[in-house]
Amino acid sequence: MKLTIHRGTNQIGGCVTEIESGGYRIFIDFGEQLPGMENKELKPIDGLTYGDVSKSALFITHYHGDHIGKICDTIADIPIYVGKTALEIFNCLESRLSHIPNPNESEKHKRIVNRIKTINTFEQLQKIRIGKITVTPLFIDHSAFDAYMFIVEADNKRILHTGDFRGHGFRSKGLIPTLKSYAKNIDYIISEGSNIQRPNATIKTEQELQKDFELQFRKNKYNFVLVSTTNIDRIFALYHASKNAKRCFVCDNYQTKILKIVSQNHKQYTPFYDIDYDQTTNPIGRFFDLKRQRQNPFSFKGNLKPFLEKRGFCMLVRSTDAFKPLIDEYAKSDETKIFYSMWDGYLDNKKPAFNESLYKFFEPYKIEYKHTSGHADVETLKMVFEIIKPKYGIIPIHTEAPNKFKEIFHDQAIISLHDGDVFNCN
Ligand SMILES: [Zn+2]
Ligand SMILES: [Zn+2]
Repeated sequence: MKLTIHRGTNQIGGCVTEIESGGYRIFIDFGEQLPGMENKELKPIDGLTYGDVSKSALFITHYHGDHIGKICDTIADIPIYVGKTALEIFNCLESRLSHIPNPNESEKHKRIVNRIKTINTFEQLQKIRIGKITVTPLFIDHSAFDAYMFIVEADNKRILHTGDFRGHGFRSKGLIPTLKSYAKNIDYIISEGSNIQRPNATIKTEQELQKDFELQFRKNKYNFVLVSTTNIDRIFALYHASKNAKRCFVCDNYQTKILKIVSQNHKQYTPFYDIDYDQTTNPIGRFFDLKRQRQNPFSFKGNLKPFLEKRGFCMLVRSTDAFKPLIDEYAKSDETKIFYSMWDGYLDNKKPAFNESLYKFFEPYKIEYKHTSGHADVETLKMVFEIIKPKYGIIPIHTEAPNKFKEIFHDQAIISLHDGDVFNCN
C-alpha cells in the first residue's frame, strides 16, 4: 500500500490524499486552497485529473470548499462519494451561488451543480470497495454537518484519515465510543492539526456558546448573527437559544431550505433538529423566513414588523446588500446587538485569509465576537492518538505547523511527509 499527500502537509485546506494498492487508488478530498494562501497549484494527478480512472474513486470527508471545491477538475468518469445529507446541503449552497450576479463565479457554481448530479452518497459505516481497497466512513462532529473520518483497508494495513473533526461540538460525545468500536488495529493515522498552534480557539464548547447566546438574547431585543449558512449545529443552537429566550427566529428562505433538509433527515434521531416551521402552530420561538422580490433588499412585510419588534428576534444575516438596510435600521437602537459567529481571522488584516469586503461590511457597526472552532484542540488530538495507538505512526496534514506534532505528541511516532512524497506503508 502506498500513500501520497499531494497537497496539505504544511497548510490548512486544499488537502489531497491518495492511497494506492495493487493498481487501485482512492483519493480523499479534493478542495480549493483557503483564500489568501500562497498559491500551491497542484500538479496533474494520475487517476484523478488525467489517465485511467477505471480503478479510482474520490471520497469527500465533508462539504467545506477546502475539501470538495475542486470536484469539477477531476476526470468526469471517476466515481465520487459524499455523505447523503452533506450532499443535499452542498447542492443547496451551490445552487444559490450559481445565481449570483458575477458571471465568472456563477458559471463555476453551475458546473459544480451539474457535477453534483453524478455523485454517489454513503451512510455511516457502509463499507465501499474499490478493487482491493475498502473504505469505511465514521460519522464525526465538525463545523460542517454530516462529516466523516475514513478507515481505509488494503494489503492487511489499516489507515485512519481524520478529515476535519473536533471534540467540543454537540455530536462529539460519540467520538471516542466510535473510535473504540471501529478504529481498532490501526497502522497509520493521517490527522488534521488546524489548532496545533491556536490554544484559544476552543475555549468554549458549542453547548456553552448556546447558553451565552441565550443570555444575550434575553438581554437584547434585536439580535443579528452573522454565521456560516452551513454551520448547521451552530444555527440549530441559535434557534433553541432564541426559542428559550422567547425571541422570534428569522432567516431567509435559502437558509430555511438548508435547515429543512437537516430536519427532514435527522429529527427522528434527536429533537435538536426538530423545528416547527409552521408559523401558526409555533407561537414561541416563531420561525420566519424572509422573502424578497428579485434583487431588492429584505424587508418585513405587513404586520410582521410590529410583531417582531414587540417580541424581539434573532436574525441570521449574511454580509450582502440584501441584509444591510435591515441591519442599518436597527443598529441605531441600544436594544440591538450584532454578533459575529465565524472565525475572526477573516477580519484580521494581518492574517492571509483577511476578507476585506467582510471587514468593510462590519466596519460601521459595533460587533461582538462569539464563536468556537470547528477543529480539535491539542487535548482532543492527544486523546484520539492515545486511544487508537497507531502501530506505525501519525502523518500530519491540514496544519500550518506539522513540526509541532513531534514536539507535542513526543511518545507517538510522527511521520512528516512533504507534498507529493510517495510513502510505502509496508
Ligand atoms: Zn478543512
Ligand atoms: Zn472543514
